[in-house]
Amino acid sequence: MYDLNQIYIDGAFVTPHGDERFDLFNPATEAVIGTVQLADAEDARLAIAAAKRALPAWSRTSLAERAALLRRMHDAIAAREDALCAAITEEYGAPVSRTRWMAQYAAQVFLGAIDAMEHFEFERDMGIAHVVMQPVGVVGLITPWNSNASFITGKLASALAAGCTAVIKPSEMSALQTRVVMEALHEAGAPAGVFNIVTGRGDVVGVAMTASPDIRKISFTGSTAVGKSILRAAADDVKRVTLELGGKSPTIILDDADFTTAVPMAIQAGFMNSGQACIAGTRLLVPRSRLAEFETLATAAVNACVSGDPSRAETTIGPMVSQKQWDRVQGYIRTGIAEGARLLAGGEGRPEGNTRGWLVRPTLFTDVRNDMVIARDEIFGPVMAIIAYDDEEEAIAIANDTPYGLSAYIATTDLARGARVAARIDSGRVMVNTLTHEPKAPFGGFKQSGLGRENGVLGLEPYLEPKAIIGL
Ligand code: NAD
Repeated sequence: MYDLNQIYIDGAFVTPHGDERFDLFNPATEAVIGTVQLADAEDARLAIAAAKRALPAWSRTSLAERAALLRRMHDAIAAREDALCAAITEEYGAPVSRTRWMAQYAAQVFLGAIDAMEHFEFERDMGIAHVVMQPVGVVGLITPWNSNASFITGKLASALAAGCTAVIKPSEMSALQTRVVMEALHEAGAPAGVFNIVTGRGDVVGVAMTASPDIRKISFTGSTAVGKSILRAAADDVKRVTLELGGKSPTIILDDADFTTAVPMAIQAGFMNSGQACIAGTRLLVPRSRLAEFETLATAAVNACVSGDPSRAETTIGPMVSQKQWDRVQGYIRTGIAEGARLLAGGEGRPEGNTRGWLVRPTLFTDVRNDMVIARDEIFGPVMAIIAYDDEEEAIAIANDTPYGLSAYIATTDLARGARVAARIDSGRVMVNTLTHEPKAPFGGFKQSGLGRENGVLGLEPYLEPKAIIGL
């Protein structure tokens, strides 16, 4: 049993002032594997004060000093790749086939921030003004459970590159990953207070951070509902906010697509991270003229997915993170059936042969209309919906008919056509015939998928305030 009772304030590991205990589960077995002592509002206050004290010196460091720390942080996280992989699988249930990428990415983001810093214009002349980009101040970084480690490191890397100091509130459900990350970051030897980590509940520590006038910016990744509450609270002192929220991304199969590549891409886009991905392509828009052919191939591909023990190499879909999340996904499968959608694969319950673990049967619906609940809500599990369309115009209209706009996928053999369609999709990212991530490109969403962007040069900007100096 793990006893996780350390947070990180002012350069030191400390026992939280908060005394609430939170159970940590292994989603593959449903067993309690440890307890987490949660931070409270007093811990948040101490962490914010430490970050505020550290700000004047850190904000005046040279770019070379910042790059040196970011590189040490990269090295320290990279050195713990195996420990991070193990933690991600144990407390989150990500299949080992995915954890390696997740752990490596958590280190790579530091190199990405160094690269962004080197390509960023921190000072420029505009007319008679000399414009300098000044760090926004102390920032609050809040992460979700579905990719906790890389959101801690990615947000922190950009904040430090900009010259900000940080208070990080990781997901309370990710304390094992956070411990690995915290130890690595400590080893990198940042000046005390430059970053602080307070694992606690969102409605306690997260709210305290959002309410604090000493925090000038919140960068939040999580659900749209919580994102909206942060935006409202931030209005009180006009805090800057970056929000990375939910999605209901379309995969548009154009009628010229090569199904031998389009079908595997569509299934992978929908089921990545066991379906617990903000960018999951969960609405499959398929030309009616090729619907039967697509249904046959997609059904076979979904049936070939292995939902099971995440520690086995052949597993492609691991358990849902919690009982609550499992119940939620089951509820959506029932809703889909009740709405009149037709099941091609999967359905309610656990995959055959499994009696425990929050495992879901990989599920594919067809005969779905875009106004059905299963086509509108973010399910956050391995459940996809086929929606038929008659022509390209209709496909574009359906793709954009969603409150979200985080990611979109297009399958076509005609790249000029792919470019034409991509230009008309309202989404932060459009991927044509590929699922390859580009860390230099901005990441974020249109509409209710978020506000602002992360990653690369454009991800650095929200951590800086432009100041125009005129008359010198
Ligand atoms: P969540 O919104 O429940 O929690 C996210 C974080 O916010 C947690 O650390 C939580 O403790 C904290 N929190 C909760 N209430 C808060 C409050 N009132 N004030 C401040 N902080 C608060 O989300 P989750 O269930 O952890 O993550 C899943 C969601 O995250 C999905 O909707 C998914 O789409 C989204 N997500 C988005 C992206 C993206 O980049 N757009 C990436 C990953 C996940």
